[in-house]
Amino acid sequence: MGADLRGIADRAGVFQYGVIGTPDIDFSEEVRKMCEANVCRKYAATWACPPAVGTVDECRAKCLRFRNVLVFSGKYDLEDSFDYEGMMGGMESFKRTARELEALLKPHLGEYLMLANEGCGICDACTYPARPCRFPDRVHGSIEGYGIFVDKLAEAAGMNYINGRNTVTYFGGLFYDDFTD
Ligand code: SF4
Repeated sequence: MGADLRGIADRAGVFQYGVIGTPDIDFSEEVRKMCEANVCRKYAATWACPPAVGTVDECRAKCLRFRNVLVFSGKYDLEDSFDYEGMMGGMESFKRTARELEALLKPHLGEYLMLANEGCGICDACTYPARPCRFPDRVHGSIEGYGIFVDKLAEAAGMNYINGRNTVTYFGGLFYDDFTD
């Protein structure tokens, strides 16, 4: 592994990370059903989320093209458990972390797939579904939208799914084969 993963993760603002093999990921229709409940209000609202990302089987196939996944998280403090603004702020902050991590690791990667938390946020207004995505190469699909049980993913990667009272934690996954120098 050529990249200084710890240093890069720190620079990007990653809280915890771990690497597991993609065959160890649990993909589930159950998670997709949670998306369809649309608690996050991103379902059928962006190219980064279901149904635009494809079926769970199609998402699994996209992920299993790669051998490994770097699971990473961001932890954000809330004023209390009803702090919606704090949650939204954390969500946006984590998207920036995922983009920074991608930019720092890109020189060490061949082909890869980056997934992050729900929604996209690159454009002020998403073109979905009327017109094609403006920046398909920059979109980070939703890790839960891909049907991945994030709590199980975190456990498999040796990371905390929950990080204490009045905090929110978001997760992403970088799918790749190898890091190079
Ligand atoms: S890049 Fe723009 S058009 Fe594409 S999914 Fe994101 S917000 Fe939508």
